[in-house]
Amino acid sequence: MAFNANHDAILTLDSDLRIVCTNKQALSFLQVDAEADLIGHSMGKLLDLASMNKFTDLCSRATEQPEKSGSLLTAIRRNGTELALHVRPIVYEAQDGHRFFVVFLHDMSEYEQFEAEFRDAIYTDRLTGLPNRETLSKRLDTALAPGSRAGRRHLFLEIGIDQMRAINTTFGMEEGNEVIRMVGARLCKYLEGCEIIARDSGDRFAALFEIPAGRSAEILARTIDTTLKHALADPFEFGGTRVSISATAGGVEIPLLASTPDLAIRFADVAYYEAKSKYRGDVYLLTPEDVARVQKTSAMVHRIRDALQMHEFFPVFQPKIDLRTGKCTAAECLIRWRTSSGEFIPPSVFIPVAESADLIEGIGRFIFLEACAALHEWKSDPVLSQLKLAVNISPKQIERSNFIDFVRNTLSIFDVPASTLEFEITETAIASNPKAIFAALHSLKALGVSISIDDFGTGHSSLGLLRHVPASRAKVDRVFLDGVPNDKTSNRLLRNIVNLMRDMDLSVTVEGIETQNVAEFVSTLRCDEGQGYFFAKPLEKDRFEAFAKESDAAEASVLASQFPALASVR
Ligand code: C2E
Ligand code: CA
Ligand code: CA
Repeated sequence: MAFNANHDAILTLDSDLRIVCTNKQALSFLQVDAEADLIGHSMGKLLDLASMNKFTDLCSRATEQPEKSGSLLTAIRRNGTELALHVRPIVYEAQDGHRFFVVFLHDMSEYEQFEAEFRDAIYTDRLTGLPNRETLSKRLDTALAPGSRAGRRHLFLEIGIDQMRAINTTFGMEEGNEVIRMVGARLCKYLEGCEIIARDSGDRFAALFEIPAGRSAEILARTIDTTLKHALADPFEFGGTRVSISATAGGVEIPLLASTPDLAIRFADVAYYEAKSKYRGDVYLLTPEDVARVQKTSAMVHRIRDALQMHEFFPVFQPKIDLRTGKCTAAECLIRWRTSSGEFIPPSVFIPVAESADLIEGIGRFIFLEACAALHEWKSDPVLSQLKLAVNISPKQIERSNFIDFVRNTLSIFDVPASTLEFEITETAIASNPKAIFAALHSLKALGVSISIDDFGTGHSSLGLLRHVPASRAKVDRVFLDGVPNDKTSNRLLRNIVNLMRDMDLSVTVEGIETQNVAEFVSTLRCDEGQGYFFAKPLEKDRFEAFAKESDAAEASVLASQFPALASVR
């Protein structure tokens, strides 16, 4: 009785693995009418060949400890259908020395059902019920598989909700999720011709359309643009409010511009950001020129990474001149890159790429260490130890949580006084994330490092914002020298901006001074410091050291002859 009460099927086998007896469950599992139909048969009759081999192996390893053995096998029923079973044989030895096996068979089909549901959860986005990113990339795999391509063309789009941040901030995340769900439903309803519409992440959806034969991707993109606008035309109602919503989309034609799923996702992303910055609310189609630009950038990313390892970067030092004395009192430490083949790549080319690819931290660390190493070396020199060194920092670098610790530790390792160091940060960088950057700048100031606002006047920041930067200096960008000193309007503009900086209690550096005329005009303003090719270009370390020493040794009369305005004005 107990034999039959078990939910598992149980078979007893002789030492040749032939069935001796079974319980009722076994008859129903294997869909046979009577025990007699099984008795005397080899297990090979019930299992497929691979499973039988595994089973023989299991039996040879079977012990009397059932929990230690068992495997998933496939049984073939009488009617030819397959049944997934967990099979667990236990070996017994009879008193006469004969071995026999009791085999427990557990039906795994309910687990298969569970697995199907589990798979569903893996491939479906919980919020919108749409296919998720996982499914999307499988669908792209299929669309781009060599076999299924056969002249078929697709348009792959990334679509984002424009007002998402504002909605989350105003109404909260929960309402935000509701909006994502509603937008997902609208997209599904209106973009009916698409092969798949999936929720990508956050406020982003992705859609794949087949481009009909004889039509161009541009025309399809335009049609989708109209459909999208139509789909979102009616305001969305939630939480007792009505909100108008628009979407921006970026698309790429595949396989023309992207031949792998990875590239399709990456390029649609590029198109999306291009659209976000220039064509908000529209559908933008990636062009071959965009692809060329992206490829150039990614080649540059690799080169920068290699260059950091191959020590192809080095610092240069551009003298800063005290406009009251004409002497060099400080320098800006600037990075230079000469490749192993001797090619010179300017910072304006690689710094923006490094910033976009998260490589700026490595570059920033390098230049900061070089600056500290120089300051350490100069400590024992009577002239060089008086110099202040400025280093540029990028917002990505300063936003890192460990940046302040890094600065503090490096200053301590090199035993360099914080007061000899100045960080230059551009007005645009400050405005990009004022809260985080203000906090970091305050911490740097607390360390004793001074802060200078670089490219002052070019970032269109509000004075309200700039007034609160904990800076002691600002640098007038060289665009303000355009037309100086011959054009009266340009002169007035420069004078006004310098006065504004002084009113904000900032010391003033004018950079980009290229000619004596400009230098003379600048020194009539209330500026402290000048920097530019007229005084000196950025110099390699030993040449800068010589320059600083010569400048210190020069008699006032010599300076006056080099730079008459100093003598005449002050
Ligand atoms: P910036 O900080 O405004 O640096 C001043 C730039 O103007 C430097 O270009 C310098 O060589 C150049 N310059 C100096 N005097 C004159 C002049 O009289 N006329 C002209 N036409 N140019 C002058 P550089 O070294 O090519 O750097 C360009 C920009 O790259 C820098 O602008 C800065 O934003 C960035 N950069 C350079 N080195 C670093 C670095 O180590 N870290 C970071 N984060 N950025 C750096
Ligand atoms: Ca600078
Ligand atoms: Ca500057």
